[in-house]
Parts: sequence; C-alpha cells; structure tokens
Amino acid sequence: MKYDPISLCQALVRNPSLSGQEGVVMESVRSVMNDLGYDRVWQDALGNTIGVWRGKKGGSARRLLVDIHADTVAVTSPESWQHDPYGGELVEGKIFGRGACDIKGGLASAIIGIASLPLNAFSGEIWVAATVAEEMIEGAATRHVLEQMARSESQGGLPDYCIVVEPTQLKIGVAQKGRAGVRLGTLGVPAHTSRTELGVNAVYKMLPAIQAVREMPKREHPVLGREIFELVEIISAPFPGNSIVPDACRARVDCRLLVGETSESLVQRFQKAVPPEVEVDLWQVGVDLFTGERLETADFHAAWTISAEQPLVRAALWALESAGLPAETYVVPYCCNASVTTQAGVPTIVFGPGDIAQAHAVDEWITTDELSLASRVFTLLAGNLLGNL
Ligand SMILES: [Zn+2]
Repeated sequence: MKYDPISLCQALVRNPSLSGQEGVVMESVRSVMNDLGYDRVWQDALGNTIGVWRGKKGGSARRLLVDIHADTVAVTSPESWQHDPYGGELVEGKIFGRGACDIKGGLASAIIGIASLPLNAFSGEIWVAATVAEEMIEGAATRHVLEQMARSESQGGLPDYCIVVEPTQLKIGVAQKGRAGVRLGTLGVPAHTSRTELGVNAVYKMLPAIQAVREMPKREHPVLGREIFELVEIISAPFPGNSIVPDACRARVDCRLLVGETSESLVQRFQKAVPPEVEVDLWQVGVDLFTGERLETADFHAAWTISAEQPLVRAALWALESAGLPAETYVVPYCCNASVTTQAGVPTIVFGPGDIAQAHAVDEWITTDELSLASRVFTLLAGNLLGNL
C-alpha cells in the first residue's frame, strides 16, 4: 500500500484545518481515499468528505459509519511550542503538531485501517466520513451524513453501527456524558446612575437566578457519575456600562448531562429553579463553513451508554484482543459527535489512538505505535462486524 498511517498523519498535520476552514485538508482526504480505491468519494454541501468501502462478499448488507471530525482548535500560544505546530515532525516515535492527537492521527488510521479490509472479506458498506466543525458544534455535520445514508440510493435507512473516532488511548468508549449550554436572561430599565431610582438593574435580577442554579439538586448515574451545571459567562448590557443602570443581563451555564435528559426536560428544570421573570432557553451556536453554508443549532448534546452485549462492542473488544491490546472499555469524559448518532438510535462506540490529555495542548503529540495499532483495530473490528474475520 502506498500509504501508511504515520506518514498520512504527518501530511494531514501539515494542512491546518480550523473549524470552518477544512477545505484543504478535505482535498487531501479525498485524494487519499480515491488512491486507496474507495468505491465512491464525494464532498457534501457542508464540506464533509465521505468515502464508501463496499464489500463484495454475499450475505446480509449491513452498514457501518466511521465518523472522524477533520477540524482542529487553533494554536493559541505558538511561542510556547518547542515544535512547529504545523510541521508534523517525527521525533523518537512521536508525531508533534496541532491535531496530531485530536484528530489527524485518528483520521489517518481510520481511512487506512478500513481500506486494509479486503473487499471479499465482508458484505455491506463502510462509510468513512471526515466531518467539519466538530470543535465548534458537536454532531451537526454528522447529522447531515446520517441524512445522506438514509436517502442513499444503494440502500437507505440509518447505519447499523457507528464508530466515532476520538482519542481514547485505544480503549472502547461505551458511555459519555451529554453537554448543553443554557442561556439565562433578565431585562431591566436603563437609567443614569445619579438617578438609580428611575431604573431597574438587570444584573440584580440575575443574582438570585445564579444562586438558584448553584443550589439545584444534582443527579447521579452509576456509570457517568454526577451531573454538572457551571456558570461560565455573565454579561450586562450596555457593556461597558459607563454610568448606566444595565437594562439587560445574560448568563451561560455549561451543563454536563446524564442519560435521559432531553432539551425540553433540561429547560424545564432550569425554569422551575429560577425566578419566573428570568428567561431560560438553550444557547444557540453557529459556524460559517468553508463551502459558504452556515451551520446553526441549539447547544444540546445528549448523554448515552451502550450495552456490553451489543455486537458492535463485542466486535470491538475482540478486535483489541486480536491486535494484542487489553480489551478495555472507557467512559468518555468529553462530548463528541456520538451524541447525534446515539440520539438517532444508532449503536455507537468511541474509539481512537491518542490520549485526550494531549488534545488542544501545547506540543500536542501522538505515538506512531498507537497509529499502527489503531489502524489494525479498525481493520479487525470492521471485518469481524461485517464479515467473518
Ligand atoms: Zn476531537
């Protein structure tokens, strides 16, 4: 094979791909997929690149989606880096650079791992989707891939299984807390601060709401632990407020959620907790994509778990053992595209090379050993699930 996951990871790191600016890296992904012989390769309206690896063995035609976001966060303090953030340097078994761990190592090993599965060894289809803007809006681009699978001419409907590629240190992610942004708003009446009796201060109206949120009872889950509601932003208007009693105040609460919470139930819990004059809704997030489209959605991403008895989990644990790795499961501590696939009812795991501790860090790195092992696990897992490996 012309490609290996190590040199491909280095090449992908050398193409910067901030959220909304993934065009160049997507061109590389399409060219590699075409060279590797993916059956169909295309870019959709949002800029996702999708390649289909189609099996030639007879039998039931199930479909697996492998989702890997292709965007990275920015380099915020380049002066602190010892390595060129976009150099893809290989030093003593580690590749350095922005995105090496999150998520270009995973992208390289998935594209090559799936293409290493012989076509006559499985039936059905494997859709490998490099998706946009995950670092800004988890799940929205993946939802668009699911819609394309549902309308697909060869075989419609949702995929039977999904692997969301994120750094898990080669363990199988079988549960994940949800995440949401809740927006609280209060309104007042503006006035000159020499005549405060003529105004109503919107920040003072917000204070009891903040206290009420801190006192909200927190639920527990046996696997996911305790839910979290954390105030992350509060701003008054006008801002700066030179001698003006503020007439508006807005606060954002970041929520880490447990299984069963819906966007409606979450908003209702906040409405019950805060004074009635405080407005409660979900934060809205948006990003301009490199294709010219704009992606907008409410900031709500559900929690999920998957049973150890699910064929996808069994195949994944078998693949780890067959690759000589410990068959370990993992509770994913961060939110990712899996919230969307699990909400759609698609059995999903999270898996990939690298440690989330390296993601978004200065001198981000990934080991070459993990890239090779991850690639092997993708081959074995897909072959076991859709064939008879
Ligand atoms: Zn990621």
